[in-house]
Amino acid sequence: MDKESTQQMIQTVIDELVETEDFLDEAKQVDRQEVLRSAGEILQTTDKIIKSYIRVSLEDGGIERIPAFRVQHNNVSGFYKGGIRFNKSVHEEEVENMAILMTIKNALHELPFGGAKGGVYIDPDDYTEKELHLISTRYVERFTPDIGPTHDIPAPDMGTDAHVMDWMVGAFKSIHSGQPYLGSFTGKSIENGGAYGRRESTGVGTFLSYWYLVNEWFPQDKRQEKSGSRSEQCRVLNHLYDKQANDEPIQVAVQGFGNVGHIAALEAVHCKDTRHHVVAVSDKHATNYCEDGLDVDKLNNYKHQTGHLPRNDEELKEAGVSGEVLDDKAVLTVEADVLILAALEDQITADNVDDVQADILVEGANAPVTLEADQHLEKNGKIVVPDILANAGGVHVSYLEWKQNRQSEIFSREQVLDELSKQMKRTLDRVFDKYFHTDLETMRLACYTLSIERLVRLMYKHGKLY
Ligand code: GLU
Repeated sequence: MDKESTQQMIQTVIDELVETEDFLDEAKQVDRQEVLRSAGEILQTTDKIIKSYIRVSLEDGGIERIPAFRVQHNNVSGFYKGGIRFNKSVHEEEVENMAILMTIKNALHELPFGGAKGGVYIDPDDYTEKELHLISTRYVERFTPDIGPTHDIPAPDMGTDAHVMDWMVGAFKSIHSGQPYLGSFTGKSIENGGAYGRRESTGVGTFLSYWYLVNEWFPQDKRQEKSGSRSEQCRVLNHLYDKQANDEPIQVAVQGFGNVGHIAALEAVHCKDTRHHVVAVSDKHATNYCEDGLDVDKLNNYKHQTGHLPRNDEELKEAGVSGEVLDDKAVLTVEADVLILAALEDQITADNVDDVQADILVEGANAPVTLEADQHLEKNGKIVVPDILANAGGVHVSYLEWKQNRQSEIFSREQVLDELSKQMKRTLDRVFDKYFHTDLETMRLACYTLSIERLVRLMYKHGKLY
């Protein structure tokens, strides 16, 4: 899903809302259509794009000038919020698209935040610890007038973690001496005001969004009721449900073994209520595959020690894991029931969509399925649980972290995980009801519709639309 597709989705919802006469009917007196057109225009434009360069001296004596961005898309539902990624895929349009997705995601989950995103054009593996510290500090120095606990609150994303957030808080604190600083970033270490469970939260929420659909939402004696427009999707769910009832394992493939993917894979193998076989996992080097299920714990240990998954048979043996090594993209097309996409964007496209064997695809990463591929999968009776629904666990816990920093209290791990699951399930219920009980083209469109209805209402109430 690129920026153009995201904007196209927004326009589709706005066009639909214009036709829905009871939506915003209180606006009749000032012309509903005009109000909605104006809402569409606001959501398709970005409040602020800040592009800069960070200058860092490297340990070998050289100096580098690195492109860096912070994009604030919209704050109608609250302070700007979104991660900062360190990745070589970073460019202005990508960061802007990710910021728009944050606005839609936060509104969908009814979190009191707007949407933003940041990015630095580096591969963190190419830099030393000291250099990364300097890059993080410089980022804050560069963007500081635009960042703060009641304005724009960054968090980790691809290539960044609690370590980076701690450095950034340190830099923020030096600049704003005497002012509250803890709530300026989320995803920090526990010692530094971070929330228990924040590190795992995106992976936990991603796994939960698929698991809840199959095991709790669908079986609540609705199995018959949902045969209408989603009959193929209901067939898939019935099939998985029956498989479990017969004690057959559900086969799961996970693309990406970073912060989201490895947690989702561990959640699957350690799920107490349902038997799963994680048949494939991958990183940028290779896919590890075993039809009878991989030993994910051992792979996790191996990754901890070496920084990557086994890249050949010898390394697989060294890790003590049975299976085989395939190329990195093989994970997308192996035989599996569920495919969790937890790597980069644009992984399932028109070119490989017909090779996907899984019946349920879950977007742990942002935008891994293109719009065209999403529509195609839906037509073929598959279920795509979209990013803004599935991967919101991180920002849910970010909200708790931000809250605990403001209230000077600490939520226990149990409280955080309970709240995460409760809040995710609340949104999952609303989306699944909408998706299965309407003819909206995809689950993504159901999400966008719920989110944009909320954003338009808020903008209207704030008097922004006329
Ligand atoms: N980077 C994560 C996301 O894309 C988390 C953002 C946050 O916690 O603010 O949702």
